[in-house]
Amino acid sequence: MTTLQLPTYADVQAAALRLEGHANRTPVNTSRTFNEMVGAEVFFKCENFQRMGAFKFRGAFNALSKFSPAQRKGGVVAFSSGNHAQGIALSARLLGMPATIVMPHDAPAAKVAATRGYGANVVTYDRYKEDREEIGRKLAAEHGMTLIPPYDHPDVLAGQGTAAKELFEEVGPLDALFTPLGGGGLLSGTALATRALAPDCKLYGVEPEAGNDGQQSFRKGEIVNIDTPKTIADGAQTQHLGQYTFGIIRRDVNDIVTASDAQLVDAMRFFAERMKMVVEPTGCLGMAAVLGMKDQLKGQRVGVIISGGNVDIARFCELLAA
Ligand SMILES: *Cc1c(COP(=O)(O)O)cnc(C)c1O
Repeated sequence: MTTLQLPTYADVQAAALRLEGHANRTPVNTSRTFNEMVGAEVFFKCENFQRMGAFKFRGAFNALSKFSPAQRKGGVVAFSSGNHAQGIALSARLLGMPATIVMPHDAPAAKVAATRGYGANVVTYDRYKEDREEIGRKLAAEHGMTLIPPYDHPDVLAGQGTAAKELFEEVGPLDALFTPLGGGGLLSGTALATRALAPDCKLYGVEPEAGNDGQQSFRKGEIVNIDTPKTIADGAQTQHLGQYTFGIIRRDVNDIVTASDAQLVDAMRFFAERMKMVVEPTGCLGMAAVLGMKDQLKGQRVGVIISGGNVDIARFCELLAA
């Protein structure tokens, strides 16, 4: 077995330089009402206000910025129906390289249109009959494209870590920090920034209750695979962590906790009503966990990463009306 060379905080710092002038330095918002509900001082890092609506732009732009001239010419390929696709498509357009996104044939029309709108070439596949990774690899081999995965890549996770870097730079050390967890790109990048900038801060990953593979992996000390979980948190419907992301998470994270779909809907409602923000279900994981753990957080300074705000508005209303 070869041992992986895990990225370090220096890679997050280098990513921050590449992102300067391209990514938004997103706001840190607070709510007195929420602070009173929890009995703590809570800082929300609002990646729902990032370009294309989620932190994924950070990792995608960082990875594509590092392409050689030959790689730029061949372009990038990614498979995703969600925020990674849009992050890659927008970054490729900004950097002037072709992008091909492999999406299921039944992906929501709005998502396909948004990805095409960023200038990407969309290739569809039958999710019941074909294997998307194989299609991606084949396209890469035949057309000289470079495949960029959604989370298990050193440049992707280093880019994601720049959100936490900005948060600590703005508000100083924290007692605890909560971040959503899918495949672990955001959490592992956040861990690199946290251990460098606030070594004593407790760091928690938050998964949907229905898909706690990360929690199982963390407890067991090895990567656990699960079936695609049924949850409204579509950004965290991953089946397993990655080699890089798990390597960092097991070393640097304090614990992994979960939130139910009902808790996510309550959080969405609070963000909309009290903070005037549209947050997608996956983006609510951190705040839902803070409410669930409030007895342990009394009097503390707590950070929460809101990871994204991309939710179809009809779907948003439907979830809040239920
Ligand atoms: C991708 C995504 C996540 C999960 O990120 P990972 O790096 O896969 O852990 C969380 N929230 C949103 C909005 C996302 O798009």
